[in-house]
Parts: sequence; structure tokens; C-alpha cells
Amino acid sequence: MTEIAISGAGIGGLVTALCLKYQGFDVTVFEADTEIRALGVGINIMPHASKLLIELGLGRQLDELGIRTRCIEYRTKFGHLIQSDPRSVEAGFEAPQYSIHRGELQAMLASEVKKRLGNSAIKLGKPVVGFRQGDGFVTILFEDGSKLDVNLFVDASGLHSKIRKQMNPFEGPLCYEGTMMFRGATETDLIGDGKTMVIAGDHDVKFVTYPISECARQSGRALTNWVAEIRHSKPRHINDADWGRGATIDFVKPFEDFFMHDMNLIEIMKKTEVVTEYPMVDRNPLLSWVEGNVALLGDAAHPMYPIGANGASQAILDAWAIAHCLSEEPNTGGLKAYEFARLPITTDVVESNRKGGPEKVLDIAAARVSGPNDRIEDLISSSELKQVASSYKKIAGIEKNRV
Ligand SMILES: Cc1cc2nc3c(=O)[nH]c(=O)nc-3n(C[C@H](O)[C@H](O)[C@H](O)COP(=O)(O)OP(=O)(O)OC[C@H]3O[C@@H](n4cnc5c(N)ncnc54)[C@H](O)[C@@H]3O)c2cc1C
Repeated sequence: MTEIAISGAGIGGLVTALCLKYQGFDVTVFEADTEIRALGVGINIMPHASKLLIELGLGRQLDELGIRTRCIEYRTKFGHLIQSDPRSVEAGFEAPQYSIHRGELQAMLASEVKKRLGNSAIKLGKPVVGFRQGDGFVTILFEDGSKLDVNLFVDASGLHSKIRKQMNPFEGPLCYEGTMMFRGATETDLIGDGKTMVIAGDHDVKFVTYPISECARQSGRALTNWVAEIRHSKPRHINDADWGRGATIDFVKPFEDFFMHDMNLIEIMKKTEVVTEYPMVDRNPLLSWVEGNVALLGDAAHPMYPIGANGASQAILDAWAIAHCLSEEPNTGGLKAYEFARLPITTDVVESNRKGGPEKVLDIAAARVSGPNDRIEDLISSSELKQVASSYKKIAGIEKNRV
């Protein structure tokens, strides 16, 4: 029996464990943290990735935790609707897009891993610091000095992966786009239909908000996730980017002239108890993710700007692909087949996100709209808008006929 180890019990590592089990493998996940804490705020699972989670039997849990996002609305800072991009099953997708609390998703996945692979399948408080290739096996090195020999090792330890560093010792620092993201989640009245993601402003000052709790929605309220993005602000903590770093609420000024008919941005931000800050960072795409019996996956392999809400979805697609490839060839050949299938696609997503991804429509509108009385339809043609949306969907694999 092939022994497989995974480092990192984030979304990528846990879904990989579930996919490998689905293909008949037993795996152990090693997580640096001493507990699975409900960290992070909202993330999105795109239809092409939620379809795979549903195939794994997690549809009910997704419906209980997350919101089935009806559409994404792109708006100017004056509140004009630039484009409404439907995301629902009713709009033709084979599976829903879910907006969900990252920490709740992670906790649910961890509980499923324990249920399906046994309580000892996740080892907490075991940071992985490196590996040594053997003949047909790999030795995993842990921070506490212990070692473990396994046949295959999948590293899903995220943005600061030490395994990626060992494979690429001369890789430079993180690439910073110039934008700081301030984030939080707070309970509010329902905004609109309670199922819409709103992205407003432009590349320099942008506000993103969406509801993330079905439980709150059913009681007529919303757990509203928001991200305030400000470009050219003072860069802070770039190389030690940490999703959990706290922020003070001293950044709202650029949003004072935003007007949305259905929400008060400043009030939402100011009433949020825990606000965090995170720089928009990624890394240059690698030419390879596999070294012998070791493969990178998720953010360890292809960290990307959280534009187009694709980080978790691409990690889930990796997980499905690696398990499928290993089921056909449970050795380094399977790892190379996974790399062959996934590396070019994620490279395109990283590069497209650097150019604004689907949010390019915001900049097109911002350059042409001068005030609240302008009419969008006089300034931008619908074919121009459609072209931006469809080209990103093609790159990220979210086209209706491909999910
Ligand atoms: C705490 C946290 C909060 C986040 N919050 C958000 C958010 O609010 N919105 C958003 O869009 N994205 C967020 N992200 C990023 C998002 O989860 C990822 O982009 C995406 O899900 C891909 O996941 P991943 O599994 O590849 O990496 P991650 O989700 O980063 O998971 C990596 C896992 O590896 C563990 N780890 C790190 N180093 C080691 C090591 N040496 N040995 C073993 N384990 C290790 C980490 O503790 C973590 O559990 C967050 C990530 C983290 C870690």
C-alpha cells in the first residue's frame, strides 16, 4: 500500500486527503498549528470546485454553512451597476458558487477527514521543515527533530511553504502588487437578496462584500464579509504576510465618497469587531512542482492574488487532479501527470489575476464614468463587458459547459 503524507491542514491539504481516500489511499496530514481554529473570513468556492466537493459527498454541509451565491455585481463607486454576472445553478452552472467562512469550511473538512480516515489521520502541532529523497521513498523532516519515511509526500503548507523553498532555494521574495486589503465580517441586515457578491470601485480603491452564512440568512440577517482594498497605501508586512494580522480602523477615508443604495460601507467597516490586514501578494509561477516523490499543491505551488476569488477553488481542483493521477500511477509518474495537468492552467490564472482578472470591468467603467448621473449603457457596450468576463472564465475553467 502506497503511504502518502500531506503537510498542511488548510483547504488544499484536507481536500487532498478526502480525494485520496475517495481513490482508495490512506493518508496522514501533518499540520503546524496545534489546533484547527476558525481562522480567516470569507472565501468563495466556484462552481467547478464545488462540483468536486459535492462529488465527495459534501453538498449538504456546504448548503448548511455557505451561501449559494446568486450573482456577482460589479459597480462603480457611485453605485451604478456595470455588470451582473449570474453564478447560480438556475443560470446554467452545474453546481453552485458558495460564499463561505473559511474557518468553518476548514473545520468541516477536518471533521470529514477524521470521520473517513480516522481520528489519527490529522497530526496537529507537527510543522514540516524539509525532506530528503530516498530510493523509492522520501523522508519528511519535522521541526521537532522527528522523521518519517513515506512513498509520496504532498506539500500543501501554503504561501510560506518551506518545501517550496527547499525545491527553489534561489526564489526571490513575495511579489507585492501595491494593494493592502483590510478585511472583516460582521452581522448586518440582509443586503439586497442576501445572495449577491458586490465588487465596487476601481483598482485603486475597491470594496468587496458578500454574505457568508446561510444560518444568519435564514434568520433574516447576514454575516457580511467585506474587503476594503487600497492601492498605494503604506506597504506593511509584505514578506511575513499573515491572514490573521490585526489592523486598526484608520483606512476608511477613501471610501467616504462611495454610495451604494443598499448598504452603508463606512458603518459596516466601523462596526466590525475584528479587522485584519493582508497585502496583495503572489509568487512568480514555477516551471515545476515535483521533485522525485514530492509535489507542491495549492498556495504552496501557485499563490495568486485573491482576485476572481480563485485561491481555494484552484487548490480543490489540484486535490482532485492529484488523487486521480495517483490512482492511475501511484508513484512519481502520477505526480508528474498531476503537474502536467494543473501547472499550465494555474500559471494562466496567476498571470490573469495580475492583470485584474474579471475585475478589469471596474477600471473600464472608472475611466469613463464621471459622476452619479452618467448612464453606464451610454459609455460601455455590453459586448465589451461580456468579453472580459468570458475570457477570465475560460482561463479559470469556470465556463458553464466545462463545470
Ligand atoms: C489562517 C488563514 C486564513 C486565511 N484566510 C483567508 C481569507 O479570509 N480569505 C481568503 O481568500 N483566503 C484566506 N486564506 C488563504 C486561502 O485559504 C488559500 O488561498 C486557499 O484556500 C488555498 O489553500 P491552501 O490549503 O493551499 O493554503 P492555506 O489555506 O494557507 O493552508 C496551509 C496550511 O498549512 C499549514 N502550515 C503552514 N506551514 C506549515 C508547515 N511548515 N508544516 C505543516 N503545516 C503547515 C497552515 O497552518 C495551514 O493550515 C487564509 C489562509 C490561512 C492559512
